[in-house]
Amino acid sequence: MASGVDARTRQRVVIEFLTAEGTGPLDIQVRLRRVFGDCTVDSATLTRWIKRVWCGVGGVGSDDSEQGQHSKHPHYYYEPLDTFNSAPSTSTSSQQQQQRPFFHQPFSVHTCTDEEGINNGDWTELHHNNNSPSNGPPDLLAGTTTTTTTHNRIIGPQNNGPLHLTNGTTHKMQTSGSSGGGREVLSIHVGQAGVQLGATCWQLFCLEHGIQASDGTKLSDEWREGSLNETLFYETPQGKMVPRTVLADLEPSVVDNVRKEFGDLFQPDSLFTGKEDAATNFARGRYSVGRAALEGVMESVRKQVEACSSLQGFVFTHSFGGGTGSGFMTLLLDKLTREYPGINLMRFCVFPSPRMSTGIVEPYNAILHATTTINYGHCVFVFDNEATYNLCVNKLGISRPTYHHLNARVAQVISSATLSLRIPGSLNVDLADYSTNLVPKRRLHFPVMTYAPVISPDSARHQGNQSVTDMTTDCFNPSSQMATYNPDNGKYMPCCLLYRGDITASEASKATNALTNLSNVHFVEWCPKRYKIGINSSRPCVVTGKLSHDKLPKSICVLANTTAFKDTWVTLGNKFKMMYGKRAFVHWYTGEGLEESEFDDALETLAQLITDYEEAEGEDQQGEEEWEERREGGETGGKKDDREERRQGGETRGRKDRSEEKRQGGETTGRRDEGEERRQGGETTGRRD
Ligand code: GDP
Repeated sequence: MASGVDARTRQRVVIEFLTAEGTGPLDIQVRLRRVFGDCTVDSATLTRWIKRVWCGVGGVGSDDSEQGQHSKHPHYYYEPLDTFNSAPSTSTSSQQQQQRPFFHQPFSVHTCTDEEGINNGDWTELHHNNNSPSNGPPDLLAGTTTTTTTHNRIIGPQNNGPLHLTNGTTHKMQTSGSSGGGREVLSIHVGQAGVQLGATCWQLFCLEHGIQASDGTKLSDEWREGSLNETLFYETPQGKMVPRTVLADLEPSVVDNVRKEFGDLFQPDSLFTGKEDAATNFARGRYSVGRAALEGVMESVRKQVEACSSLQGFVFTHSFGGGTGSGFMTLLLDKLTREYPGINLMRFCVFPSPRMSTGIVEPYNAILHATTTINYGHCVFVFDNEATYNLCVNKLGISRPTYHHLNARVAQVISSATLSLRIPGSLNVDLADYSTNLVPKRRLHFPVMTYAPVISPDSARHQGNQSVTDMTTDCFNPSSQMATYNPDNGKYMPCCLLYRGDITASEASKATNALTNLSNVHFVEWCPKRYKIGINSSRPCVVTGKLSHDKLPKSICVLANTTAFKDTWVTLGNKFKMMYGKRAFVHWYTGEGLEESEFDDALETLAQLITDYEEAEGEDQQGEEEWEERREGGETGGKKDDREERRQGGETRGRKDRSEEKRQGGETTGRRDEGEERRQGGETTGRRD
């Protein structure tokens, strides 16, 4: 610290900066230096202050939050503005003050002192509403972007949802739907597939934003000034752009490769590695090895969250079939949703392929994972390696595609899905819009993805004359699928069509009209508005080499929920049942702490999911009215919902809780210990090798 600046002044300045819109810890360090020359606050102290201001004393991540106390009732502490009147004149401009909804009159942040200069004085509590209903999506083709979607849980000083102050004032915040975002998104990549796919995505994001992927420096010719770069990156005082991300794996090799390949791009804190992998075992990821690593990953996540001023949500990449991707992800999701309730979540997942497989037990892992997380209700976009592999062979002419090629395809979709969060466009779609539009029932949250044009880098240079209608139609062709299912065996539920490049709203409208005439595109009858459309003029990049790229004139990405995906679940379920019928490989799971009854629960939940698909496909006019009601007023109170509640709150949950209790009460300890002993005695070594 610089001498001559007393702790209280320093702290007051910091706390005022925290109230400023868009100010994260790094900004604060920069601004402090501007005000006091060499005066900085060490990051540990700064983190503590931020927690106090944003999350209340004790803050997120304290032992209390483990019990769910803070997270269930997120709160912020303030005191009347008077106490802050003497703050130095380095505060934000009056214009910024007006834009500061979170600290809108008559409250401001408390300044105080304890061992770091903070006392626990007379705090005023500000409650934050997590339950505001979403009023459904706008009709984008009608040109309205005034979405009323609310974004519930924001960690920073901005919140786009309504806030209820204790004095009864309610602030209606600006929603991001009209502006296209500007609020941060944290990408979390888990397990081998998740981390490798994540690394490819960052390579693409860097290209799209004009950032050098090896070290985060801005490329002067291509740097996107004026874009919402801060959604995915933050800037260091040296002017380097750092990804807002966490890459985590339970063993070191994959993350080490990323470290080698991307050098200085990622902040060291955002790369987490454990010592022992999950050995393609859901139970190891969820109950034993994964549990030990959870706090480490959460620490990395918290650091990234603290660097955000207004976190919009988490985007994940992981596999369903791996031990880390399935088991550890359930644990991480449980923890994150308790610590950041109401946050938007979106996941891009490798689904087990029907014929190609790297692990025999993938059906166990995938179904245990999907059924454990079935009630989250956020979008889980699925693709499989077999379909994506075929796409690379048939459309790109790659004779032996590698994971790198497959990941590059999926990265394009992730890029399109997050585009309007980071590059403003004419018709924007944001994270919350996807779930609102694509998930008609809580469990039916597995949309598939297609992308066009899929063309080789060489032909990319000459592409340009394919019409928007052709591209759109192509996306509904089985040869463009990134997951294996037969579209003729089901009906489409809502779809999102995300256009980018040189495309006008009328071209998009014409293309969607053309879809209605296609004989192979059938929609469920109860869904009156079939398409949600996003248009962004930013041209798509194609990664042609490690650091080179081309730009295509236009592209389309379709995210579609279809009842045809039911068959994929049935096939996977049959594989699960065949193995489980013989109790094959079950001991590896019970040996790590999983109750055998969880296999039965998983099958029961899977059967409910399949029933949901069947009901969705068969629903008629009555279903249409229900869907309308649901969109207008949130969940409806009809018979179906009663049944839904009974299912969710009742039988299956009861059973899960009982097995959780048994586990905690030590009933399975013996079995886990046996597994542990076996592991230590080398019995499992062969398997892992
Ligand atoms: P985990 O690290 O324990 O989660 O295991 P993995 O992530 O390796 O999960 C196994 C599944 O992921 C298998 O279906 C693999 O084919 C697939 N997989 C592994 N690495 C990649 C990758 O880089 N890209 C893609 N698309 N799939 C992968």
